[in-house]
Amino acid sequence: MTITYADVEAAARRLAGVAHRTPVLTSRTADARTGAKLYFKAEPLQRAGAFKFRGAYNAIAALGEAERRRGVLAFSSGNHAQAIAYAGALQGAPTVIVMPHDAPAIKVAATEGYGAEVVRYDRYTEDREAVSRRLAEERGLTVIPPYDHPDVIAGQGTAVKELIEETGPLDVILVCLGGGGLLAGSLLSARALAPEAAIYGVEPEAGNDGQMSLARGEIVRIPVPVSIADGALTTHLGQHTFPIIRREVTGIVTVSDAQLVAAMRFFVERMKLVVEPTGCLAAAAAFEGIVPVAGKRVGVILSGGNVDPAALARFLAA
Ligand SMILES: *Cc1c(COP(=O)(O)O)cnc(C)c1O
Repeated sequence: MTITYADVEAAARRLAGVAHRTPVLTSRTADARTGAKLYFKAEPLQRAGAFKFRGAYNAIAALGEAERRRGVLAFSSGNHAQAIAYAGALQGAPTVIVMPHDAPAIKVAATEGYGAEVVRYDRYTEDREAVSRRLAEERGLTVIPPYDHPDVIAGQGTAVKELIEETGPLDVILVCLGGGGLLAGSLLSARALAPEAAIYGVEPEAGNDGQMSLARGEIVRIPVPVSIADGALTTHLGQHTFPIIRREVTGIVTVSDAQLVAAMRFFVERMKLVVEPTGCLAAAAAFEGIVPVAGKRVGVILSGGNVDPAALARFLAA
C-alpha cells in the first residue's frame, strides 16, 4: 500500500479540533548561537505530551465502527501507549496496553488513568509480541504498532504540515528518528509543501540503525541501543517507514547523549520548555552544527516532553 500526502490531509481532517495545533516557537538566543532562523514545533505541548497522539488518534479513527468497539491493543511502555490509551478513551474504543512487569509505576498509573487496561508480561521469560498476538486473537482486538502502520505515519505527518503552513518555505527540516513513523510522515508533508527543503532524520549515536540502513539500502537490525533517548531505542526501521525514508530523505545524522542533555538544559533555561531526551534529537543536531544551518530557515521538531521530573532534575544537575 502506498502512503501519500493525501493520507496526511485525511489525517489532518480527523485530527482537526481534537489534537492541539501546537505552537511554533522561536528563540533569539538559539538563532544567535547557530546563525540560523530556527522554528521549533512544540509537541511537548501536544495532548498526552508527544506527537504520538496524532498517529494513535488517526489510526483508531480509521477503524470501522465494529473494530473500534471491540478495542485496540498496543505494546509499549512509552509515549505510544499513553497516546493509544488517551485516543481510545476519546473515541469510545477500549484499549489494552501490554507492558513489562517492571514498567515504572508512574507510567502504569498514567496509562490506567486514561482508562486503559494494562496487561503485564515478564520481559525475561515471555515474548511481548507473542503475548500481544494471543490477547488480540482471544479478544478480537486490533493491534496498532508505534510506527510501522500507514495510518500512524499519516497522522504523524500532520505536525510538519502544520509547521510549514505556519512558517512558509524552509531550507532545512530536522526530525527526531526512532522507527521512522514521524520522519516518514514528515517527508510526505515536506515533499508536498516544501519540496526544496533538505530533510534530515536525527537518531541517537548509540542506535544508528537508520543511518546504516540508508547506506546499505536495506533495513539493518541492531541490538537494543543504550541511550537516554528512550523514545528512540528501536532496533530497526519499518516495512512501511523505510521505503519512504529511503526515497525522500536528504540524510540521517546522529547525536550523543551529552548533546541531548545540553539541549534539554537550553530549553528549560532559555525557553521554559520541558523537552524529553528523545525530543531533543533534532534540536541537538542544529545546536551542535551536525547539520549545517547557518544562514538558513530551519524547522525543528521537538517531539515530546514526557520526562519524569526527578530524572529531569538529575539531567540538569549533571
Ligand atoms: C516515538 C518517539 C520518537 C520516535 O518516533 P518514530 O516514529 O518511532 O521514529 C521521537 N520522539 C518521541 C518523544 C517519541 O515518543
